Order: sequence, then structure tokens, then C-alpha cells
Amino acid sequence: MPTIKKTFHRGGIHPDPCKITAGMPVRPLPPAAELRIILSQCIGAPSRPVVKTGDIVRRGQMLAEAGGFVGAPIHSPCAARVVKTERVRNAQGLWQEAMVLQRLTPEELEERPGYDAWPTPRTPEEVAALSPAQIIGIVGESGIVGLGGATFPTRVKLTVPEGKRAWVVVVNAAECEPYLTCDDQLMRACPEEIIKGVELLMRATGAPQGIIGIESNKPKSAERLKGAAEKSDADITVQLLRTRYPQGGEKQLIEALTGRQVPLGGLPIDAGAIVDNVATVYAVYEAVYLRRPLTRRIVTVTGPDVTYAGNYMVDNGTSISDLIETAGGLPADTGKIIAGGPMMGHAVSQPNAPVTKGTSGIVMLPEKLSRRQPEKPCIRCAKCVSTCPMGLQPYLLMTLSKMRLAPEVRAEGVMNCMECGCCAYTCPSARPIVDYIRLGKQLVRALPRE
Ligand code: SF4
Ligand code: SF4
Repeated sequence: MPTIKKTFHRGGIHPDPCKITAGMPVRPLPPAAELRIILSQCIGAPSRPVVKTGDIVRRGQMLAEAGGFVGAPIHSPCAARVVKTERVRNAQGLWQEAMVLQRLTPEELEERPGYDAWPTPRTPEEVAALSPAQIIGIVGESGIVGLGGATFPTRVKLTVPEGKRAWVVVVNAAECEPYLTCDDQLMRACPEEIIKGVELLMRATGAPQGIIGIESNKPKSAERLKGAAEKSDADITVQLLRTRYPQGGEKQLIEALTGRQVPLGGLPIDAGAIVDNVATVYAVYEAVYLRRPLTRRIVTVTGPDVTYAGNYMVDNGTSISDLIETAGGLPADTGKIIAGGPMMGHAVSQPNAPVTKGTSGIVMLPEKLSRRQPEKPCIRCAKCVSTCPMGLQPYLLMTLSKMRLAPEVRAEGVMNCMECGCCAYTCPSARPIVDYIRLGKQLVRALPRE
């Protein structure tokens, strides 16, 4: 019998997957002598420094605490000296506070034995004895945020609000963005650890079931995860999904895997689900079992003309330009560098900016693939409407945003737009729909609260 591949029911597109780096094992990046750790690395408040200039910090030591309830601490990727705090430009060119660290030399490390070592892992018995609140506490203290790019603090996600119940932990292993393969590679290499991470999330939230949703174009990862899940005592299943964008959208994933709908304006927990990206789940495993906070991540560095495209293990704070150099340098005809995937990522205007927790990929696109076509008038073909997975009317949202009609664009549901880009991708008139939708959202946020 053929394997059933589930999917969401409305909209979506099939962009060329361009998974150039699929199957390429994760390689470590040569350690950078200097790291610039941006203090604003999650969707919430910037972190507050707890060390000062001149301090020597251990590997994994907290550098900055969470700046608020929706916030996350930041830790040092290595034994280092805090050189200064300064303002740097992030990848999109915005000025942000950053802590500059100088990695300790081998001679300096000799004088400080143990400074560059990770703590002793917890024993399986110690992990088994942890309460749900303790697991959530460790996740919070370890600075874990959504590694799919959203960077929402995981501790907050795991805290089920009063009156709600989590029925299922949904693991987003779709990796539906073209070019990116960091999650695929992690799943191939660490299936057992990921299953242990899912078990922890189920214990933390009280959810009796775990479902890992993975697109059918990653058969090796799916097979390895299935093998690992079969060894678990927890109710964890691995479900193949149709390869279709945006299969990894939270609402689309919940619908495909559970048949439940998240109400418009609602959260996954309103449908009884907790959704986490697979790399986030692995980070939870590392934090709880290995006592390692989130200080590094896998980044896919790729593009059609990149010499050494690959999946690299990168310390937080490493310069994007170091990654580009390691991958063989910027190809001569590069028209655009993107942080993240080409559908939902952001153009990099500052290649010297540091990698942050949310940097899943660096994609270097040649001029011919990055050039925008001239915008033409809307021909009312409704392609944008039929591909919108949220059931919105993108052409109308663009028009209202352009006319700066904030109450009207809000009434049309602009805040439900997930900025997936399906509408702009499919528009034959090359209309910059998502740019205007972002403007529309800003206008709505500026409205007085009702
Ligand atoms: S970007 Fe927004 S409006 Fe466009 S298809 Fe995606 S959800 Fe719909
Ligand atoms: S896809 Fe483009 S041309 Fe067609 S209705 Fe939407 S905005 Fe207009």
C-alpha cells in the first residue's frame, strides 16, 4: 500500500526545491577569534548583560539574561574575554547592541583549566526525575528560541495557559523552504536525540502524543526518525507530508497532521497543539541531557554558484562573511544574499553582520535569479487568492496598504498574513504584494487600540 502523504487543504505552491546541500554532512566552521553577540536575538525584549567588559567567561556561561517574560538569555559559545559592548549593524542593516568576545588563546586556556569544557551531562536517572516545571525551567535558562527563524522563546511556548490543554506536540520537520537543508542533515545525524527531545516536550506540556511532520523529499531522515521513534516508549509517530510550500507553516502543519484548525487570530494551543521546529527540539535535548545552552547552530550556506556549499556548525556571533569565505567566497555574479530561505528570509545588506540564533541559512543568489521583474498593473487573475494558504485576498491587502487605509486593511485580516510569499511568487504582474502587506501591518500596529 502506498504511504499516505498528508498536506493542508488551501493554497500553497511548488517552488523548485534547489536542495543543493542535501546529504552533505555538517562541517565545523574554523573557530573565529572574535565573536559579536547581538543582544536582540529573539522576537521579544533584548537580553540584559550580566557580565562586564574585562570579564573572562566560560564556555556556556550566561552573558545576558532574558529582558522580559517574552525574552531569552544568551550564553557564550566559548571561553572568552569580554572586550566591549558596542552597536553593530545586524544582517538587515539595523543598529543593535552587541557584546564583543575575544576567544581565549591556548596559552590563556592552560592557565584556566576547564574553562572551555562543557559541564558533565545529566544521567538518564537525573533526566527521568525532572518535573515538567524543571524541564521548562532548563529550556528557559538555556536560551532556547524557535530555530526555524521565528525565534519565539520556547519556554513561553511550553507554558500552557490556564484553561487550555496540550493534546499533541507537533514537530516541524518539513523544511519546506527551498535551498535549506540544515534540518534534514540534523535529522539524518541525530534521530535518537531528536526523539528524546520530543519525549521531553511531551513531559513538559503533558501532551500524550507527539507527531513529527516531514516532507516526502527527505526519505533518509524520515526512515531514521521512524527507526528511533519505534524504540521510544512514548506515543511518537513520524508522518510523511506532501512536498508543498508552506507545509511548515504552524497552522498548515497542525491541519495536515491532526485535522484540527487553528482559529484565525488564534494560537496552536487553541487547537491543543504545541509546535516546535526540529532543530529547537534537538536544542531541548542538548540543554536537558547535556546541560548545554544554545550557543551554536547548523547553517546551510548555499547558492547555485557557491564553491563549497554545505551545512556548517556555527558559533553564535560568527561573522556571516566568515561563512561566505569558508564556502569559497562570494560568487562573482551574486545579486542578492539572503539570511534564511528565499521565500521567508531577509536580504542581507551587511555581510559583516554576525550570525544569530535565527540564522538558518545564507543563500547567495545570482543576479538573474534575484532581479525583480518590473511591476505591472493587476490583471485580476486571482492567482494570489487561490495560492494564499490563509484564505486572504492579497491583491486587496496590497491595494489598501498602498492607499494607507489602516482600518480597512485590518478588517481584511492583514494581521493573519504569515508573509509566506506564495501570492507574490505566483503573481504574473510581479506585484510586490508582501512588501505592501508588511507596510499594512505597520499601519495597523500604529492604530490606537480599541
Ligand atoms: S504572504 Fe500573506 S497574503 Fe500572501 S499568500 Fe502568504 S499568507 Fe497569503
Ligand atoms: S496575482 Fe497579481 S495580477 Fe493576479 S490578481 Fe493577484 S495581484 Fe492581481
